[in-house]
Amino acid sequence: MKTALVTGASRGIGRAIAQRLARDGALVAVHYATEADAAADTVREIEANGGQAFAVQARFGAPGYVDDLFDAVESGLKSRTGASTLDILVNNAGIKLVRDPEETTRQDLDEVFDVNAKAPFLIIQRAVGLLPDGARIITISSGITRFGNPQEIGYAMSKGAVEQLSLHWAKHLGPRGITINTVVPGVTDNGTEPVFRDPQIRAHLSEMAALKRVGETTDIADIVGFLASTDARWITGALINASGGALLD
Ligand code: NAP
Repeated sequence: MKTALVTGASRGIGRAIAQRLARDGALVAVHYATEADAAADTVREIEANGGQAFAVQARFGAPGYVDDLFDAVESGLKSRTGASTLDILVNNAGIKLVRDPEETTRQDLDEVFDVNAKAPFLIIQRAVGLLPDGARIITISSGITRFGNPQEIGYAMSKGAVEQLSLHWAKHLGPRGITINTVVPGVTDNGTEPVFRDPQIRAHLSEMAALKRVGETTDIADIVGFLASTDARWITGALINASGGALLD
């Protein structure tokens, strides 16, 4: 059985990714930061569909979080499979920062870089010893790296940084057949942001995509499922535009 860790899998895109990987047969470690009930719901839904999963907690940026995360992942995997091999790592957890450039503080930047950029790097670094040859790493960036939006400058900077991961780790881990790619979603209804419940805003956001709708979490999860599969073995170091053709002009 394949094993997977999906960060930020308590809700939104991460939950859909965890469900997709479980449907494909993986035992999934469902990571969350604070929403234990939501993570338990993800695990329950996976189990109800015949899959296997367990929840792991860590708040990125807090002291010792990489150790906390991997202690929980490794013991969860060992108790279920007898080993701590990790076949698929998905760096999905992320936070937004919406603040005018003049108001953005050093603390804002520290926080958004800790979660969105440094954590994925440190998690890959720590996971390398658990990854077998041919493993898969997938990181979630954002289409914000493709256009100017002053209020999201801090968020965009962190996502610009995380996009570097696939390039450099791909070269480093390629000799072991390990692929690492970055999925770049456009606007995606994560089920919790109120803007997606407003028909006017939703219609406006739909116009941004050539496919004329807002993305669903499963749109992103299915791409991650493909990248995690054997069929994607020849793709590494790539940025995959997953926006339904947003901002093609
Ligand atoms: P979401 O619904 O807001 O969920 C965020 C996830 O990240 C939750 O599981 C949350 O855990 C976890 N998280 C939050 N703060 C954390 C911290 N300090 N340490 C560890 N985990 C933390 O997110 P989403 O909208 O699905 O987005 C998922 C990813 O896609 C993010 O990287 C985001 O930047 C990217 N993205 C989203 C969109 C979009 O339109 N939705 C577009 C482009 C890119 P808890 O539930 O425990 O808080």
